[in-house]
Amino acid sequence: MFDRLRAFHQPTTTQAALRLFESERRAGGAGRFVAGGTDLVVEGDRSLRWLVDLTRLPLRYVKRRGGGWTIGATATMADLEHHAGLRRFADGILAAAAGTAGSPQIRNMGTIGGNLANASPACDLGPPLLALDAVVVIAGRRGAGRRTVPLERFFKGGHRTALNGGLLVEVRLPAPPTPAGGRAAWSFQKLGRLQSDIAVVNAAAGVALGRDGRCTWARIALGAVAPTPFRARRAEALLVGRALDAAAIEAAAGRAALETRPVSDVRSSAEYRREMSRVLVSRALIACVESLGRAG
Ligand SMILES: Cc1cc2nc3c(=O)[nH]c(=O)nc-3n(C[C@H](O)[C@H](O)[C@H](O)COP(=O)(O)OP(=O)(O)OC[C@H]3O[C@@H](n4cnc5c(N)ncnc54)[C@H](O)[C@@H]3O)c2cc1C
Repeated sequence: MFDRLRAFHQPTTTQAALRLFESERRAGGAGRFVAGGTDLVVEGDRSLRWLVDLTRLPLRYVKRRGGGWTIGATATMADLEHHAGLRRFADGILAAAAGTAGSPQIRNMGTIGGNLANASPACDLGPPLLALDAVVVIAGRRGAGRRTVPLERFFKGGHRTALNGGLLVEVRLPAPPTPAGGRAAWSFQKLGRLQSDIAVVNAAAGVALGRDGRCTWARIALGAVAPTPFRARRAEALLVGRALDAAAIEAAAGRAALETRPVSDVRSSAEYRREMSRVLVSRALIACVESLGRAG
């Protein structure tokens, strides 16, 4: 598949990776960054002439940052799945989502940076990271410096991102909302044909309750049912200010399903995806309420 490559670079610094990418780009011929290769190899693009490997860069880390976390781009799905701190953070939604991606072999190779940069509509880290208000740090090409982009604005369309030839360096998770005297909870849900399959639908929810038991903050994000993972903002708005009872959950889940723009493909019909969006959002919100009940 890569029989036509003429160069495979293995830089050890971010600056060198960007410099090599830029000089190869100027020299002509198609090329890409590569991390775990689990998307790139499957793509099988035989027009590629050069690759810049990212796995020797010092970007494989998960660090505490304030009340949140910073995750380097080459941290693998397995790193996230098994990280003790991430398994506790926000009810472990990111670790749980990473743990559903493919097989152990895929999770040992596939990275958070690759999952986001590939921007598949069905990527499993998209919805939980949207629910966590994640921000990505991009090192721009041609010495453009670094910029931070909210994940919601990073996804531009199916397999299109705000990278513009830049390198995704890290993902930042802010401290979760902690209303005075209140509590918060999260849940990730995924539906695939088999456990190791790409999602037919995936969904993440996060809610915070104030002291009076009413919802003060809500996040509902869905994947595989639109060109990009997205936040169902109208559904979120239906929850804020209300008690999270069965009627509120039903209304929000129904609204979220209406916000989807699913397609029919080999995995599922659009109708099934829309109906399962409703079901998964409902399950996620019920799981949040149950978690809040246990904590209270
Ligand atoms: C059998 C199988 C099952 C899978 N199951 C799932 C699943 O259940 N859920 C799921 O979400 N995914 C799944 N995937 C997809 C894939 O494993 C993930 O998306 C993975 O996280 C990709 O990461 P990678 O490091 O392998 O990316 P790569 O293949 O190395 O790169 C993917 C793309 O991103 C670019 N890129 C990579 N890193 C960066 C960076 N830091 N900055 C800029 N550009 C970058 C590359 O140029 C390339 O275009 C599966 C794949 C396979 C083969």
